Amino acid sequence: MKGDTRPRPFVGLQAKFAVSYLVITLIILFIMNTYPLFASQRMIFQTKQTALQTEAALISSNLSGLEHLTPDGIARVMEVLGDSHVTRLMVTDPMGLVLYDSASPSPSGAVRYALFQEAVLALQGQDVFRSSYGEGSFRSGAGTPVIYRNNVIGSVYLYEYDRQQGLVLQQLQQTLRRLSLVILAGSLLFGVILARTVTRRISFLLDATRRLQEGEYTEQVALRGNDELTLLAQQYNLLTQRLQETDEVRRRFVSDASHELKTPLATIRLLSDSILQSGDSMDGETMRDFVSDIGQEAGRLSRITEKLLSLTRLDSNQPLHREPVELSHVAQQVLHTLTPLADSRGISFDTLLEPGCIVSAGADELYQVIYNLVENAIKYNCPEGLVRLLVGREDDRVWLRVEDTGIGIPESEREKIFDRFYRVDKARSRAAGGAGLGLSIVRDTVHRFGGWLSVSPRVGGGSCFQVTFPAWKEEEA
Ligand code: ADP
Repeated sequence: MKGDTRPRPFVGLQAKFAVSYLVITLIILFIMNTYPLFASQRMIFQTKQTALQTEAALISSNLSGLEHLTPDGIARVMEVLGDSHVTRLMVTDPMGLVLYDSASPSPSGAVRYALFQEAVLALQGQDVFRSSYGEGSFRSGAGTPVIYRNNVIGSVYLYEYDRQQGLVLQQLQQTLRRLSLVILAGSLLFGVILARTVTRRISFLLDATRRLQEGEYTEQVALRGNDELTLLAQQYNLLTQRLQETDEVRRRFVSDASHELKTPLATIRLLSDSILQSGDSMDGETMRDFVSDIGQEAGRLSRITEKLLSLTRLDSNQPLHREPVELSHVAQQVLHTLTPLADSRGISFDTLLEPGCIVSAGADELYQVIYNLVENAIKYNCPEGLVRLLVGREDDRVWLRVEDTGIGIPESEREKIFDRFYRVDKARSRAAGGAGLGLSIVRDTVHRFGGWLSVSPRVGGGSCFQVTFPAWKEEEA
């Protein structure tokens, strides 16, 4: 029924397996118990037909020399032909009157007619054969006309009752039945063992999945063998490993984030408590200093939360908005915004921005990438240092390079600086208002827009960050 949402009854794999196995076995056993018997029966019928019809033809041809069939004449012919192996032999005249019957060779004087269908059809000039099998015996009859000068002068009818071959067939049947019972028992046992083995391995996986659902990531499934289930177990183990790693990263992220938020909040609390406790005794200037510090800490809090939000957005894999963005144009905007910060530290800019370097990305996201890189180049620079910003194009790539004459990054730290909340020099970064999130935002954004990021030491001191993107192509429009 369409739209029926009732849960379907659970039918275990083991039951399905056992039923299919049983059905297949029964079909095979049925064929095994019928076909050989049927084929043997047909073979015996054919042998009997050949034997009886040949004998009937031989007797008939001998009798046809008599011209008139008489009981004495027939008896003489029979004597000459010798003993027949058939159960009963009858010879009739054209009217069906029995002239000779091997069952009662000396006529008793009673008039008898052969009313067998075979005898009747033989008198009509046909060769007839009929055979049947029942109650463990074969009953076969053959009739043939006796012809003298194209006239039917009588008929020969042979009947055979064969118990011998019937017994052989019955024995075959019995042997097949016994064999079938053994096969059935064996295959049922084998089927149960097989079903148990397979379902036990599946239950292992099911149990493990249940534990995974309850948050138990550490457990690994060890399945022996070399089949799809082993492969499934391996995939499951990889999945739990990934989940474990993700869970670990999430926990660390939450703990780091709370730690970062806790520090400015504690400072704000301390400062506001000091103001409250001092009552009217605090002079105006100290009060202004405290309030300005509170403002700075609040600013830090809002910067951290903004960055956390950016990272959450990047993690959520929301669909990207892409447009052709002129890299040099965005770089100019960033320089314009950061000039006051650079001036306050006596840092000068040196730029070489090639026009026409277009990237398919989001303008706001690119702004954030360049802003973070240039801000870092100012923050971690030496007094009176230099920041060089270069934009260029090479084949079908567009690149942006930010070089500084600052403190540089030790080689062992170069990979780690892109991790969330990682800072080489915690005190310096904190003093500069950083939380260790800027570069992870840069890396994730660049990767989401199909670009890549690298960092290298600058010859003569300082660092060099380079972002490369595939250049925007006309066809993308
Ligand atoms: P933060 O907010 O602390 O600057 P980032 O993720 O932007 O966080 O940078 C991570 C760390 O990498 C910084 O704390 C700093 O130690 C180091 N770093 C980043 N840029 C530079 C640079 N241009 N020169 C030297 N060190 C840098």
